[in-house]
Amino acid sequence: MVVEPKVKGFICTTAHPKGCEESVRRQIECTKQYREGAQVPSKVPKKVLVIGSSTGYGLASRIAVTYGYGADTIGVAFEKESNGKRTATAGWYNTAAFEAFAKEDGYYAKSFNGDGFSTEMKEQVIQCIKEDFGQVDLIVYSMAAPRRTMPDGTVVSSVLKTVGEPFTNKTIDLRTNEIKEVTVPAANDDEIQATVQVMGGEDWKDWIRALHDAGVIKQGAVTLAYSYIGPVVTHPIYKEGSIGQAKKHLYDTSVQLTKEFADIGLKAYISVNKALVTQSSAAIPIVPLYMSLLYRIMKEAGLHEGCIEQMDRLFLDKLIGHVETDEEGRIRMDDYEMRADVQKKITDVWEGIDSQSVQELADIEGFWDEFYQMFGFRYDNVDYTEDVQI
Ligand code: NAD
Repeated sequence: MVVEPKVKGFICTTAHPKGCEESVRRQIECTKQYREGAQVPSKVPKKVLVIGSSTGYGLASRIAVTYGYGADTIGVAFEKESNGKRTATAGWYNTAAFEAFAKEDGYYAKSFNGDGFSTEMKEQVIQCIKEDFGQVDLIVYSMAAPRRTMPDGTVVSSVLKTVGEPFTNKTIDLRTNEIKEVTVPAANDDEIQATVQVMGGEDWKDWIRALHDAGVIKQGAVTLAYSYIGPVVTHPIYKEGSIGQAKKHLYDTSVQLTKEFADIGLKAYISVNKALVTQSSAAIPIVPLYMSLLYRIMKEAGLHEGCIEQMDRLFLDKLIGHVETDEEGRIRMDDYEMRADVQKKITDVWEGIDSQSVQELADIEGFWDEFYQMFGFRYDNVDYTEDVQI
């Protein structure tokens, strides 16, 4: 069928198979180019598990380790396949495309589609590691989920709310590109707890414990999870909000994991990444306005990076050999975003920004291009009038 984008708010309900393939192909090219200029040591992770591997930072991680290190990968994601009438999700097409490219280029790539929170998924993946890898030397935890089914069957949902007082600030209405005020309500204790259960470190720890107990983590392995801090303007909704509580838990978990699994010399790190348009981040109020200003400023300064540029720099520059961290042991991939000159430019325009000036001051086109491209649209070399197999 001819696949067109159907955008509802911050989500696109269709995805283009050829466009998703093009997105993966471009990311692979990006890593190949980056690798040419990088000094990759001989001792790099070669057997990698990526949990949350189909889109955003997880997919970019998978591509970076495969085409940067020559690593074999197992991926875990939760995506919908096509039912013949409706397209599959972008992550499903991305995964199919990645596997095809990787296999063609001689890399092992196997993907599991299902609930990463479940014990069954952990068991299946462990079985696969035993059969095909023996052990893994890098585990990337990049799951971003709206909800989690707990072992007893209850479902808990994460919320994007503040902690304490409601917070009012500007946001961009993604339907009209108008600047509006939005009030983000405060989460109650149950909502905060649920957000920590979904987006905190509990499940990361469950994965590591299960892998450790099965003996499939190699001595001296590394595990990584991703976080965000961001500027003061987004703190009430992000760093100090319900999601921020989950991220604090994720950080505490990294410290615990390194201690608890010292027997195998496991090192657990949090990488604090840059704000980027992904299916998860587009849903956060206030953040898309901040991101479209950030894109403009970082592009003008020649500092803009997408998921793949971030992950190439993480895996090829910061993680191997000497691991570069801040004083709290976190890897800072938000170094360019948080530069004083970049942040000052945002603060200078934030107060005065309105529906007219936003067109000039923010990179709304760039935001939307990246948004559509996440679903395989707006690639100039893809023929969108063509009938495609979904
Ligand atoms: P994303 O929505 O692009 O990717 C989420 C991944 O998780 C997908 O592969 C999805 O299939 C998978 N997933 C969701 N539910 C699952 C489940 N139940 N079982 C298995 N897999 C499941 O998100 P992203 O923005 O790349 O986020 C990844 C991590 O990076 C998150 O921890 C996020 O907080 C962090 N991060 C994001 C940003 C940003 O701006 N996007 C910035 C810094 C850090």
